[in-house]
Amino acid sequence: MSRFLLCFFLLCSFSFFSQQKSYEGMKHYVVEDTAKYTYSMIVDDLTYLYANFPQWVHPLSVGKSEFGLEMSTVRIGGETPKKKSVFLVGNIHAREDYSSKLVMKFLNVFLLNLEKLDNTYPNALKIMDSVDIYVMPVANPDGLKIAHEDWEGISDSFNLYKDSIRLIESYDVWKANGKGLDLNATFDDGNHAVKRADNYSPVPCSEGYKGKIPAEPKETQALQRFVGQVKPLMTVSFHTKGNILYWADKKTHPYFKEIDTKINKEIALRSKFVLGKVSKSPAIYGCGLENYVRAKHKLMGTCVELSRPIYDRTQFPDSQFNSEVWDKAWKIPYMYLEQTIKYGDELVKIAGL
Ligand SMILES: [Zn+2]
Repeated sequence: MSRFLLCFFLLCSFSFFSQQKSYEGMKHYVVEDTAKYTYSMIVDDLTYLYANFPQWVHPLSVGKSEFGLEMSTVRIGGETPKKKSVFLVGNIHAREDYSSKLVMKFLNVFLLNLEKLDNTYPNALKIMDSVDIYVMPVANPDGLKIAHEDWEGISDSFNLYKDSIRLIESYDVWKANGKGLDLNATFDDGNHAVKRADNYSPVPCSEGYKGKIPAEPKETQALQRFVGQVKPLMTVSFHTKGNILYWADKKTHPYFKEIDTKINKEIALRSKFVLGKVSKSPAIYGCGLENYVRAKHKLMGTCVELSRPIYDRTQFPDSQFNSEVWDKAWKIPYMYLEQTIKYGDELVKIAGL
């Protein structure tokens, strides 16, 4: 290969992965991607998006948190819901607010593409012919507010519980919901009895407590109900540690006839995220949303860990979101859409829909 061709190739592959583009100041771009993005800002932005893209954005009621906050969710698609869909979820873990930012930024940019105001996702309109996208940016609103020490609207409720919840370090690294249950350890995937993660707590805690019975928290019940009704072929739940995809576990991996391998291998390769190994121990992997959708409904589920690993409880600062997260992961939700369309008919068959 000539040096010129090599340079050309490197340039192409670089621009394919990395996206150093600013949307700031673009018409209808509202997401706060470089400073703190609070629950109420996210709710306001969702309201803005469905007021300004009414033909594409359809709000729906999925459920409320323990303290009564809406788990705001929208469906992106045409007038009538489609049978095939993809579900994007952020902020199941309170302190991981890069995840709601990523989900919101993807949603906003995707809508700009549907209206031809931008060309980041050239096949956006075509995608809408085949699948709907359900977007829940904040699955744990009470927890996110606690992690932001944003007490408005939750302080009365939280005061009832806070003295009985073990606090590890400080509120800004809170991971659980408002009652001290770690939501991604509470799903009823059949592993509740054995679940015992590294940060296990036997009592309500800012992290690691799975509750007395499966699906104890209201947020978990709402998510389980929603997945049972809508049956999204693909659930992508965003977290923030490691630039890695957790996509399979030993028990449910055989259901998917290697389609899960093909999809996630392709996405890992193209995004340069690490492809996690098939998880072996239900004590470690069990009871997450992604495990629940696989175990109970034979629907695909991946946990996407955004940003480089930091070996403590913190996340990189808000100001580094674009370099740490967006530039590396901007295409990940889009690739899950493309792959779900590619294997859609087989996934429908596997789930028995
Ligand atoms: Zn997490």
